[in-house]
This record gives sequence, structure tokens and C-alpha cells, in this order.
Amino acid sequence: MHIGPWDIHIVSGGKFALDGGAMFGTVPKVVWSKVYPADENNQIIMATNCLLVQGFVNGKQENILIDNGNGDKEDEAFMARFKFEGRGILDRELARFHLTTSDITCCILTHLHFDHAGGSTRIDAAGNLVPSFPNARYIVQKKDLEDAKNPHIRVRASYLPKNWECLEALGILETVDGNQEIFPGISVRLAPGHIEALQNIVIEGDGKKILYLADLIPTSRHIQPAWVMGYDLDVVTCVDEKIKVLKEVCDSGTIVVFEHDPDLPAGTITRDTKGKYHVTRVDL
Ligand SMILES: [Zn+2]
Repeated sequence: MHIGPWDIHIVSGGKFALDGGAMFGTVPKVVWSKVYPADENNQIIMATNCLLVQGFVNGKQENILIDNGNGDKEDEAFMARFKFEGRGILDRELARFHLTTSDITCCILTHLHFDHAGGSTRIDAAGNLVPSFPNARYIVQKKDLEDAKNPHIRVRASYLPKNWECLEALGILETVDGNQEIFPGISVRLAPGHIEALQNIVIEGDGKKILYLADLIPTSRHIQPAWVMGYDLDVVTCVDEKIKVLKEVCDSGTIVVFEHDPDLPAGTITRDTKGKYHVTRVDL
């Protein structure tokens, strides 16, 4: 898809699995399992749908990656627990666009949880943690970095220092504080609830708009306002934020991206006369 100077594609950071009950919070399994089947361990398969945004802006070719999946550096036990699929997948995905990890100029991270920022770093041949994208600057919310360094016990397992510490040490991890335009037509916007400083990404121009929802609405099956995750730290704030965003995007033609949906990565949203939301698939 083309918006302003930008070419936008979905690239996969690989699939993984999480407990279905945790993903649907208080929604009963007899209800959620009808729209999202679970396996024998009650896990559901999830995607990491990242965005590759390319454009020639201010005299420079930008290859921007929005989130980067789970990465490749976890041990086999960790990989097995979450059923990670897709070692090396980002390299293969970038190769579809004749790019390597060295061509990425900027990584915008919605937050530092491992399923969004795990691909930020890798282990080199000498066993050292290094940036996966050596020529990129990485951008995250200041508050999220603070929370990642001093995490609440409830989210400690999601914030792994190996995903950002070497970036900060090298001075390539930049922080933003609140809503901000990063490139012409590309902005970050706070979307609290899942965590305090989750950021959504807005790409806008030519009368078109893409909203990258990250964990505000992780899959198309989470579209109804009360269907929030057990992982969300502040559930009421999350529901309120969802209602606000749904109102904004509904019937507007805005394309929303569901980062974790393995079947329906992007779509537009409508609301029926009973107030129920529906998603119509869009291929970027
Ligand atoms: Zn997530």
C-alpha cells in the first residue's frame, strides 16, 4: 500500500503461541474458543505482524520497521514453551524486498515486551548481544523504557533486558515522550491500558490512514470493547481506549493492523445497528 512517500508492507516476525485464557481475560472459553480455536494445551497460535515502511524522505532512503517479533536468540526451552516458529524469518521477509538487516534505518517499537522487541538484538558469532539492525536507530516511549528497567512483578517476565540493553549502551535507543511525529506522516500515539506507555503508530496522507494497534487490539477477534486480555495491566483504561479508537476508525476507511492475528492482519471496521463491531479484511 502507498501513503504519501511511503510504501507499506506487512512482514512476519514469526508465529508463537500463548494461553488462550490469558489472551481473552474474563471472556469464557466456551465463547472465545468458537472464534479462536485452542490446541490441547489451551494455547492459541499468534502472529507477529510487523510493518516495513519504505520511502525516500528528506534526501534519504528510509527503511523503517515497526516492531520486530520474538527474535532468534532464545534457547530451545523458551522457544518450545511459546512454540516459536520462524527462526531467521525476518531475514527472509526482508529479502523479499531485496533488503538485509543492515538496510533498516529505523525501528519503531510499540513497547519493549519480548514478542514486540525480541528481534531488536541478536547474539553474534562471539556470543555477544548486538543490534539486529546495525544501522538503525530504535525508538521507544521514555516511560516504557523506565518501566522495562523497573518492571512491576506482573509484567517482569515480558521485559527482558537483553532485548534493549546493548542498544542503550551503544546510544542508538532513542526515547520519545508522548505523541510525536517521527517522520512526515508517521506518528506515534499513546494507547494506555495494556501497559501505561504502549504506543500505536499512525501513518497518514493522501486521505488515507493506517493505524497499527499493537496490543491495544491484538487480533481481529479482540474487536469487541470488553474482549481484553488477561495480560492488560489496567483493564478499564484499556476498554476506554479501545472504545475511543473504535469510534475514530469505524466507518472511516482507516485500515487497522492487528499485530498478533495469524489470519486477518489488516482490515477496516464497521459497527452494526446492535453496536457490534465487524472487521473487513484488507490486503495492504
Ligand atoms: Zn504482544
